[in-house]
Amino acid sequence: MKILIDNGHGAETPGKRSPVWADGSQLLEWKYAREVAHMVGSALWNEGISAELIVREDSDVSLSERCKRANEIANKAGIKNCLLVSIHNNAANGKASGWEVHTYLGKSKSDEYATIFWSEAKAILPMGTKMRGDWTDGDPDFDSNFAILRDTACPAVLTENLFMDNPEDCRYLLSSEGKAAIAKIHVQSILKITGRK
Ligand SMILES: [Zn+2]
Repeated sequence: MKILIDNGHGAETPGKRSPVWADGSQLLEWKYAREVAHMVGSALWNEGISAELIVREDSDVSLSERCKRANEIANKAGIKNCLLVSIHNNAANGKASGWEVHTYLGKSKSDEYATIFWSEAKAILPMGTKMRGDWTDGDPDFDSNFAILRDTACPAVLTENLFMDNPEDCRYLLSSEGKAAIAKIHVQSILKITGRK
C-alpha cells in the first residue's frame, strides 16, 4: 500500500496561522503540516511503508496541482492500494477546540479509514480533548465537499488537528509532546490500515 501525504497550504497562503500569543509564539499551518508530514513520512519509511509527500516545496501548490500529483502516483500504484492523507489545523472563533476527520460525501473505503484515524486520535490525544464528530450517518467523520477529497482517485482523509486559534489547543500543538502526538495519530492509523498493527 502506498501513502500519499498532502501537507496542505503554502507559505504565502493568506490566513492559515494562529494569532501571535503573549509569549511571542505563533503557529503557521503550512510549516506545522510540513513538520508533521516529515515526521510521519520518516516513521513510515522506518516501518517499510511506502509514503510520499506530494508537496515538497514550501510555496502554495494549487489544489488542482496537488490532486493531479496524487492521481499520477495513485494511477501508477493502483488506486485501491493508495491512501491520501491531508494534514491540517483548524480555526474558527478562537473558542472552538478539538480534533476532526473529514472524507468526501457518501460512503466509501475512506470512511472506514477515517474511523481508524478517529479511534487512534481518541486514544492518543490527552484526556479531555474534544473529539468532534458527525454521527448523522453512523460514523464519526464529517462528509465534506473538499477538492482534495473529491478530485483524488484513491481513498482520501483530511485531518483537522485541533484549533490553532484556540489558546489551549495551540499551546499543545506547539509543544514537543503535542507535535509528537499529532504525528503518532497518523503513523498508528496508517500502521493499522496497512495491517502492520
Ligand atoms: Zn488547512
